[in-house]
Amino acid sequence: AVRIHGISKSFGSLKVLDDVELNLPAGSVTAILGPSGSGKSTLLRSINHLERVDEGFISVDGDFVGYSRKGDTLYELKEKEILKRRADIGMVFQSFNLFPHLTVLENLIEAPIEVRGVDREEAVQLAQELLARVGLSDKINAYPRQLSGGQQQRVAIARALALRPKVLLFDEPTSALDPELVGEVLDVIKELARTGTTLVIVTHEIGFAREVADTVVFMENGRILEAGPPARIFTQAEHPRTREFLAKVL
Ligand code: ATP
Ligand code: MG
Repeated sequence: AVRIHGISKSFGSLKVLDDVELNLPAGSVTAILGPSGSGKSTLLRSINHLERVDEGFISVDGDFVGYSRKGDTLYELKEKEILKRRADIGMVFQSFNLFPHLTVLENLIEAPIEVRGVDREEAVQLAQELLARVGLSDKINAYPRQLSGGQQQRVAIARALALRPKVLLFDEPTSALDPELVGEVLDVIKELARTGTTLVIVTHEIGFAREVADTVVFMENGRILEAGPPARIFTQAEHPRTREFLAKVL
């Protein structure tokens, strides 16, 4: 399980995350909604320690992300240790972010070999399994530029899974895609949700959030205004700002 405990983060005088508290039980699917600039991406980046928070902490199965504890004090880990802990937290961005000069296979085996110390044969086998899972076995030797946006994003998901993360974070995974390619990516994410992967998804795909999320979180101005099961949030949100936002996007 992932625990986000009272995290705050400012950029200069702008408080972008304000005492955010969130628990992600193993196997849960959490959708994060909220207006532009509300801090959704910063929250995901903080979970992964791509941003360093000013207050609070994040732990994955009891291990602090980016820190270790000595007594009551948290010490920031060395870069190499951070990379290892970060491997428990997969991240898929809006803009695929595949290595353009590497084939699909090479994209998938690089991190398991480098970060996890998996041997090449095992990494290749896992890559093959994951490509089958996202429906792209035939593209194993292609380069990213030879793939459609939807295919690239499915490879990016497979690449994130190749590290066998304990949680997978998605930041608007379909918003850079042509509309006809959105479905194939959402289908892959739905399948992950069904098979018990712990997921956090920042998305504007409200129908999708309603269908797959156990918990919907609404953020504004760096705060979680409310969180709850989709059946409640989408029909009887408590906070007027949540209702207003949903009325605009639904
Ligand atoms: P969107 O829906 O547009 O992606 P978001 O909810 O993901 O928005 P964030 O990207 O987390 O919002 O940004 C939250 C606020 O933090 C914004 O006001 C943004 O301008 C600011 N911000 C984000 N990153 C930085 C940075 N590196 N330096 C300064 N300000 C930043
Ligand atoms: Mg964002």
